[in-house]
Amino acid sequence: MFRAILLERDGDAVSSRVAELHETDLPDGDVTIEVHHSTVNYKDGLAHRGAHGVVDRYPMVPGVDLAGVVTASSDSRYHPGDRVVVNGCRMGERHWGGHSELARVPGDWVVMLPENIDTATAMAIGTAGLTAMLCVLALERQGLGPDDGPVVVTGASGGVGSVAVSLLATQGWSVDAVTGRPEEADYLRNLGAAGIVDRGEMTEPPRPLESQRWAAGVDAVGGLTLANVLARIRYGGAVVACGNAGGMDLPTSVAPFILRAVSLIGVESVVVPHDRRVQAWERLATDVDRDQLGSMVTTVGLDETPEVCARILEGQVRGRIVVDIGGPASGVTPRQ
Ligand code: NDP
Repeated sequence: MFRAILLERDGDAVSSRVAELHETDLPDGDVTIEVHHSTVNYKDGLAHRGAHGVVDRYPMVPGVDLAGVVTASSDSRYHPGDRVVVNGCRMGERHWGGHSELARVPGDWVVMLPENIDTATAMAIGTAGLTAMLCVLALERQGLGPDDGPVVVTGASGGVGSVAVSLLATQGWSVDAVTGRPEEADYLRNLGAAGIVDRGEMTEPPRPLESQRWAAGVDAVGGLTLANVLARIRYGGAVVACGNAGGMDLPTSVAPFILRAVSLIGVESVVVPHDRRVQAWERLATDVDRDQLGSMVTTVGLDETPEVCARILEGQVRGRIVVDIGGPASGVTPRQ
């Protein structure tokens, strides 16, 4: 038997409970994993709320991330004892996810953890950190670096934003952090932000072009915030859009693209190809500042996740939430 959060639907209402399940209840898959740590992401909040278009079958075990130890595998790439991580892949939406002591997934979703990343650290990074790293890699592919000028990060106190601020500052970028929470200014400065920008400055409808301020941007917010960022990007710069915490729309014009040669790059982490995931995890293993990562993390138990899922939708969560699953030991010894 194992414990898991189970989302169930009754008409339009979605409820959650801690359920005792049997291994035979697990979905099909090649790799069975004893989950040691998971996370709470914005999407988990949406799943708990029963938001339209997130969970497409019930009952569902939420949790878009997991890290743990393989207990059984019919995929020759993985063996009992391997320390692995799985992010996204529609876990918690179409396939049972990580808020569970045990999980089973297709082998193509699994990434071996780099040697120097344990399961708690992997989940401190989580999908938010993976996404932030994919954004950094996208800027690098665009040929942009710290010498080109300052970079702006929106939704900065959130999960994606916090890791993005830290990664970019560690690389030498001068980072401006946009936040609606002035009380988090010291937290953001400790992550390496050189400047703090009040969210209010970025929520009025912009003119098509504002004065040129940043060489690059990482945007977790969308809506008017992204429109304001685009209007302030320097000639030849780029913005990586990865989130919609502030809205799905994009009230802008083509002016930044056709008059300043600005690029808008999309990043997504759910179905990103396996080789890109491996590349991002390898870079996370070397580039993440562990002390800064530690300052972003709040750890909760499995039973607390429903309450945290409600708070993340209210923008009340700072940094990263790690779920310490604390499940029964399978007797499988993790390989180092
Ligand atoms: P968090 O809730 O941790 O962070 C979002 C942050 O956005 C908040 O902390 C807040 O930062 C800011 N924010 C919230 N509401 C608003 C608003 N109405 N207007 C402006 N800013 C707002 O979420 P995550 O960091 O985990 O995710 C951020 C976004 O990225 C979400 O939309 C999520 O769905 C998306 N995402 C996308 C992924 C992908 O694959 N593309 C993967 C992971 C997440 P502050 O208080 O500092 O202003």
